[in-house]
Amino acid sequence: MRTETCDYLVVGSGIAGLMSALHLAAHGRVLLVTKKESAESNTNYAQGGIACVIEAGDSFEQHVADTLDAGAGLCEEAVVRRIVRDAPARIAELEALGVAFSTRQNGTPGYDLGREGGHSQRRILHAGDITGQRVEAALLHAVQNHRNIRVLEQTLVIDLITTRWLHRPGANRCVGAYVLNRSSGEIFAVRAPATVLATGGCGKVYLYTCNPDIATGDGVALAWRAGTEVANMEFIQFHPTCLYHPKARRFLISEAVRGEGAELVDAAGRPFMQAYDPRGSLAPRDIVARAIDAEMKRHAAPYCCLDIRHKSRAFLQKRFPNIYAACLRYGIDMARDLIPVVPAAHYCCGGVRASVEGVTSLPGLLAVGEVACTGLHGANRLASNSLLEAVVCAHAMAERLVDQPVPAALDRVQIPDWESGTAVPSDEQVVVTHNWNEVRTCMWDYVGIVRTEKRLERARRRIRMLRREIQQYYFDYLVTADTLELRNLTDVAELIVRSAMRRRESRGLHYTLDFPGKQPRPRDTVLPGKAG
Ligand SMILES: Cc1cc2nc3c(=O)[nH]c(=O)nc-3n(C[C@H](O)[C@H](O)[C@H](O)COP(=O)(O)OP(=O)(O)OC[C@H]3O[C@@H](n4cnc5c(N)ncnc54)[C@H](O)[C@@H]3O)c2cc1C
Repeated sequence: MRTETCDYLVVGSGIAGLMSALHLAAHGRVLLVTKKESAESNTNYAQGGIACVIEAGDSFEQHVADTLDAGAGLCEEAVVRRIVRDAPARIAELEALGVAFSTRQNGTPGYDLGREGGHSQRRILHAGDITGQRVEAALLHAVQNHRNIRVLEQTLVIDLITTRWLHRPGANRCVGAYVLNRSSGEIFAVRAPATVLATGGCGKVYLYTCNPDIATGDGVALAWRAGTEVANMEFIQFHPTCLYHPKARRFLISEAVRGEGAELVDAAGRPFMQAYDPRGSLAPRDIVARAIDAEMKRHAAPYCCLDIRHKSRAFLQKRFPNIYAACLRYGIDMARDLIPVVPAAHYCCGGVRASVEGVTSLPGLLAVGEVACTGLHGANRLASNSLLEAVVCAHAMAERLVDQPVPAALDRVQIPDWESGTAVPSDEQVVVTHNWNEVRTCMWDYVGIVRTEKRLERARRRIRMLRREIQQYYFDYLVTADTLELRNLTDVAELIVRSAMRRRESRGLHYTLDFPGKQPRPRDTVLPGKAG
């Protein structure tokens, strides 16, 4: 088995990984590994934009207040202040790298700032309705042309390598990772004094999600197995309106459609939101998601619908060109038909516990972006704060890391060959597919938008059983990307269930019928890394 050596190992090629690589490359050799094609990331699908106080009339104080308000008492105020204040500098950096944010078309100079739920001001910088795609393309271009950065696509981290695992004396430390080239099947090791996890979220833990297939929670599972603390995993944000169609995977019907007057109705066309909130269909995301969930459960219906048929076809085509075209591809004419929607897992507010500089409880391991839990989002994320968090933290992480002395003797650490033992190629791929579906269905049914102790307990039993079975499968058969992702998905599912069971209150995105009120003192849910 070969071992590659670099100064910085960066895992992931979304906004967090790409920005981390670009900053670190000024100080050393970066190896960036990413498990599919480089552009495949949550970042690439971000529609709305990036929150930033940039024009007169808005203020850092207001952005801070909006973020704290959304976070329901669990945000760390100092973290919020730091990230909000650093936003303009990081936006300038993105622009210098070639991201062109939309400007006003009415003759007055300035950005065309969007407004989203929970923001008291227009402060969302966007590049049309494909902000993420534009950001991803610009950053990838810069990374691919940087002589200090080497990118390995189709390369998936299997497990982190720690000194504890190597039975070396002293405090535990991350010294690199085993990786799998999914095209060739080769497994090799990467030795690095610093490993930056930028692996994104875990939407795929749920049956319905608007996240792409890469979002299997790998970073959280890798870090936790290596002994790192994770926090607040119970806070999963569900987007209320993902298109429901057998052939449409993860297409979002933007909140702006409701902003233009679309009503939520049941499958028979009856509006129901007024029964849940006086703001009706324009209530905040978590309330709308809970209402849709309740209606679906009440009628045993697979979806609810959006009704915007009162608007003309010409208006809809002009205002929502992408959404109109996408719906039409699935045989839904927004001007004539109801749009079937389901809530879908969207964003994970919890993750590997980390500071703004990415520092985790495991020396040598940094976490940046959606994989990290920095204290910015608290119990609920304010829209368009996540791309901002990634770009600010990547910068802060690199600034701190390059000043840190590299412990002596790390470059002499011997990494043993990957042991396949008596494992053989699997002749039972059906086990992976079956368990994959079972985990996701179990999480959707029992650990979704509205929770109860009984459902959580049921989920815990099933997920534990599945974890044991998957662990056995992992030892018996040669590893494949599918097995590894399933193992990560199931570990993360268990972390979500355990965290949810610890929170005996309803706060932010965690809503349980058994404890509908809030505890007087807000607390994070911190789970220690796996022992042994
Ligand atoms: C549909 C949609 C719309 C959104 N809209 C917005 C918005 O408007 N504004 C906003 O702020 N946020 C938005 N978000 C959230 C935001 O896009 C994400 O939080 C953010 O892009 C996360 O960036 P990241 O770099 O941390 O992770 P990602 O962009 O998801 O990148 C993760 C990377 O890690 C790689 N990876 C994962 N596991 C491994 C492994 N084991 N080995 C190797 N590589 C691995 C992946 O392949 C990928 O390259 C949206 C999300 C979605 C899904």
